[in-house]
Amino acid sequence: MGLDEDSLDYHRTDPPGKIEISTTKPTNTQRDLSLAYSPGVAAPCMEIDEDADEAYTYTSKGNLVGVVSNGSAVLGLGDIGAQASKPVMEGKGVLFKRFADIDVFDLELDESDPHKFVEAVKMMEPTFGGINLEDIKAPECFTIEERLREEIDIPVFHDDQHGTAIISGAALLNAADIADKDLEDLEIVFSGAGASAIATAKFYVSLGCKRENITMCDSSGIITEPRAERGDVNEYKQQFARDVPEGDLADAMEGADVFVGLSIGGIVDEEMVRSMAEDPIIFAMANPDPEIGYEEAKEARDDTVIMATGRSDYPNQVNNVLGFPFIFRGALDVRATEINEAMKVACAEALADLARQDVPDAVVKAYGDEPLQYGPDYIIPKPVDPRVLFRVAPAVAEAAVESGAARTEIDPDAYEEELEA
Ligand code: NAP
Ligand code: MG
Repeated sequence: MGLDEDSLDYHRTDPPGKIEISTTKPTNTQRDLSLAYSPGVAAPCMEIDEDADEAYTYTSKGNLVGVVSNGSAVLGLGDIGAQASKPVMEGKGVLFKRFADIDVFDLELDESDPHKFVEAVKMMEPTFGGINLEDIKAPECFTIEERLREEIDIPVFHDDQHGTAIISGAALLNAADIADKDLEDLEIVFSGAGASAIATAKFYVSLGCKRENITMCDSSGIITEPRAERGDVNEYKQQFARDVPEGDLADAMEGADVFVGLSIGGIVDEEMVRSMAEDPIIFAMANPDPEIGYEEAKEARDDTVIMATGRSDYPNQVNNVLGFPFIFRGALDVRATEINEAMKVACAEALADLARQDVPDAVVKAYGDEPLQYGPDYIIPKPVDPRVLFRVAPAVAEAAVESGAARTEIDPDAYEEELEA
């Protein structure tokens, strides 16, 4: 209970909450004020009226992200509604600021109708350099993001879907390398077919895994073609319907190389782990309790189990904070029109690559005795590793330029130096 009491204290200490707005230009004299506001402010307005992209030159647009939610799938709390979700959205703003110096307006919209939600966010395009959709339930989150991506010209990124996909994707690149398996040969089983699982499965295909090697299970078992034909699954699950006999998760896991858990805690036992292929990869990411615990999974077998969870108290934490701050940093710095597949892949590859390099002493110290050296217990970098910013943001920015999503060019080396300064 200590944590709850401390958190209430933390949040109510005056001033309530944990963020405020501050000004970045002088505001002391009458002249300062007539530059900041009327009449001087008319000049930048007219520049932007001539050329809308000048909003990036004369306003905070290019460093401002809207964190938008309707509170329908908040953390492990479920549909607690817009107002109750505000501490989470303000917290997301804190992470954007702390890790990538990006400013956030958190917007809690009291709207459960996806169409109205989309209309509301669309209207806010002029304000922001990017939109981070947050904690919106499946399957509405898929439609909302798809429509917004089509209809507005700034990045739209639903972190609960793609953050998980990208970070666990980086982990998968390295786990496959360590287990000496090719991505295209991996037999992958998903437990869960919700917001994060669908996006993660799609992303693994972008990384080189084969869609036909993916078996997805929801709360009713394996998503099979007959189930899809019966109309038993939504259109998003249907994309992963497989031509295999009906069965449950235990049936699906037999002989699999990879288990990806994005469902609920405690549903995988040691016997199921023993039924998997040699040197299995197990990403048990249900929070706060994984589908199977770290020790249990490791102890189930004598060969190497490469294990990741969503928890900070075990190795290989799949933590979204390794992604979204740096993806948006890179996207904003080239005034990107979207966050596309190439940019996400670039992020995953940069993270995977970073984990293969020696870790600076300062980072090792911050994590006590953990042996932070590339191997089964270190397949993704640590969030406090300052190099994540310098590596991921430029990789994303470069991918944006190469894929035609950038409004401006950058020199990657100069940009990396600028971030390090
Ligand atoms: P979601 O959209 O609600 O999806 C949950 C999925 O789990 C649904 O498809 C549901 O099946 C399925 N499920 C429930 N019970 C199951 C069972 N007994 N066997 C198999 N599948 C079952 O939730 P989400 O946002 O994707 O998140 C899912 C979990 O992953 C949560 O625990 C969340 O905390 C965790 N997560 C972790 C990370 C991370 O570590 N970085 C990131 C994102 C999410 P139906 O479709 O049949 O209802
Ligand atoms: Mg979230």
